[in-house]
Amino acid sequence: MNTSTSSSASRALPRIAVLATGGTIAGAAPDATNTSGYQAGVVGVGQLLAAVPSLAGVANVQAEQVASVDSKDMALALWTTLAQRINTLLAADDVDGVVVTHGTDTLEETAYLLHLTVKSDKPVVLTAAMRPSSALSADGPLNLLNAVIVAGSANAKGQGVLVAFNNRIHSARDVVKTSTYAVDAFQSPEIGALGWVQDGRVELQRSGVRPHTAATPFSADAAWPVVEVVTSYAGVSRVAVDALVAAGVQGIVVAGTGNGSIHATVQAALAEAAAKGVAIVRSSRVGSGHVMRNGAAADDALGFVTAGALNPYKARVLLMLALAAGHTTPVALQQVFDTY
Ligand code: ASP
Repeated sequence: MNTSTSSSASRALPRIAVLATGGTIAGAAPDATNTSGYQAGVVGVGQLLAAVPSLAGVANVQAEQVASVDSKDMALALWTTLAQRINTLLAADDVDGVVVTHGTDTLEETAYLLHLTVKSDKPVVLTAAMRPSSALSADGPLNLLNAVIVAGSANAKGQGVLVAFNNRIHSARDVVKTSTYAVDAFQSPEIGALGWVQDGRVELQRSGVRPHTAATPFSADAAWPVVEVVTSYAGVSRVAVDALVAAGVQGIVVAGTGNGSIHATVQAALAEAAAKGVAIVRSSRVGSGHVMRNGAAADDALGFVTAGALNPYKARVLLMLALAAGHTTPVALQQVFDTY
């Protein structure tokens, strides 16, 4: 579906493509006080835009319904479709930026995937909502307006993929969902947001230093390698790791305890997997901080890679892209994790 709020009187406004994928921002509940028993992704992009009349004053908006999913069900094929569509749109002279509306549950994964695979310095901004569109004090409309404003801002150019949520602007690399219910559900642990957007003004206080977008060799076009996540915890067995190796996975990310430490039983299984050529990445389940190489485990001897500050789910995104790009040895993969 294509809709447009453009008019000849507003040619000087930035031209922003809004790509809708579903989520709570497009959710509807039976009544206005219900913020948990709703169906995600049922409201179309035309209706989302119509709820924000002030958009017409900040951008010429064209819109597409790319998908209508609850982001808990995000699929790798949809990631490929989304990345390709964004690259096509941004290659055109008549699009200045892209906004993606998304569910909050896997937003941080999609955002990082796009951060690494979009090949343009034009702004790409993801946004979402914690309350369905039918809710009293729904947060979606203002988040959408702010995302469009950020996508149209010259300040956002060259910053990689951004997430505009609850007035804050985060880097896709850093941002994670940290609350199951609060409208302030996204944070960038350790590092903090890049800036904010309020009352139509975009202020960025800093930039990320790691390469992104066109400065990476990654693409969402190739076949997706199979990479899964396992967790370490008290009394954990090696059943999951052994089953994944038997199933032929190419990579395993471990959500370790503390500094990515791994229960001895699971570590032994992972070392065997690494010896068979399965890529093993140590991350942490803690939620902030980073994992030190050769800290909690002898990575050099075990053939493991460390994820640094990436949480397990973002580490999985990078590992899939790196494997697809032909980086398969622990040394080559560590270089990737130390760079991007
Ligand atoms: N389950 C929803 C989704 O991720 C939650 C949300 O959007 O807030 O699509």
